[in-house]
Amino acid sequence: MLDLIIRNAKELNQEPVEIGILDGKIQQISSKISEEAKEEVTLSDTQYLSAGWIDDHVHCYEKMNLYYDYPDKIGVSKGVTTVIDAGTTGAENIGDFYHITRDKKTNVFALLNISKWGIVEQDELADLTKIKEEKVAQALRDYPDFIVGIKARMSKSVVGENGITPLELAKKIQSDNEHLPLMVHIGSAPPELSEVLAKMEAGDVLTHCFNGKENGILDHETDKIKEVAWDAYRKGVVFDIGHGTDSFNFHVAETALKEGMKARSISTDIYVRNRNNGPVFDLATTMEKLHVVGYSWEEILTKVTATPAENFHLTTKGQLQPGFDADITIFELVDEDKELTDSNGFTRVTHQQIKPIKTIIGGVIYDN
Ligand code: ZN
Ligand code: ZN
Repeated sequence: MLDLIIRNAKELNQEPVEIGILDGKIQQISSKISEEAKEEVTLSDTQYLSAGWIDDHVHCYEKMNLYYDYPDKIGVSKGVTTVIDAGTTGAENIGDFYHITRDKKTNVFALLNISKWGIVEQDELADLTKIKEEKVAQALRDYPDFIVGIKARMSKSVVGENGITPLELAKKIQSDNEHLPLMVHIGSAPPELSEVLAKMEAGDVLTHCFNGKENGILDHETDKIKEVAWDAYRKGVVFDIGHGTDSFNFHVAETALKEGMKARSISTDIYVRNRNNGPVFDLATTMEKLHVVGYSWEEILTKVTATPAENFHLTTKGQLQPGFDADITIFELVDEDKELTDSNGFTRVTHQQIKPIKTIIGGVIYDN
């Protein structure tokens, strides 16, 4: 007997499927499941499902003052089954973060800030003595299933006088630790974007990729994507949205798309203030923004499921396949206009919205 069967389901391709779940895992997917289950859920004809949405850039260590939120407020209640906290904590406080997230409904993982206390202050990389490689290595040994990579914020307000040095240290930590995934935040110079990108390799994640700043990927004089950004993109650096309060600009995203450049993953950089007051609100709204830019829903869904799972080695997540975790998002596409605002106050109107209806995490169903 199965624990749960989802009936009358379909993905965006409209193919009818039923999904059988046992012990928190997807046990089977087929057009018709004849077995019985303790519980069944039947989707309405307007509902779709996908693998559970993964937001790979959030801030959800609730004990911080600067950037913080609560995992279930940005996760399960928003159709997001897994969140990756992007460097809110470092080696000194990630243990506490780990312990207080064990009873959350939402799956929580973390990128370890290379600065040992994380983002307690805005300039966590201005003092290089806060980067202690042996402490990072110890944290990785203590929480191997929780820490899925490391984070370095490479912008003026964070690094102070240190220029590119913190990224060099992050790359060393990465190569000394089985080539861990690395996420790099970009913003105002110094360091220059070109210096940051020159140090990044294939698979490294560049977050805030479509920010509207001078030191972003768009050359504001020529209105073209900078050649250094194209070089990084071509060598396999992963462009990640990381919308945030200050880091998503419609025109940059549109210009990139026009030139043939797309973000590989879509994430929010959400925390309590930009969730309550905008412009982020939630992952669905960020997905709508990429839709209005011109991405298809199919590719948007891949960019919040399979791609982030692959980038951060979440090997049992991001796909609807037997043996994978039973993390599923049930949603509707609603033909209704909605005005969307980017981080610089520019607006676009989407004609279609994506609305999470139910979130299934480890086989447990939650209503949205
Ligand atoms: Zn950032
Ligand atoms: Zn962030």
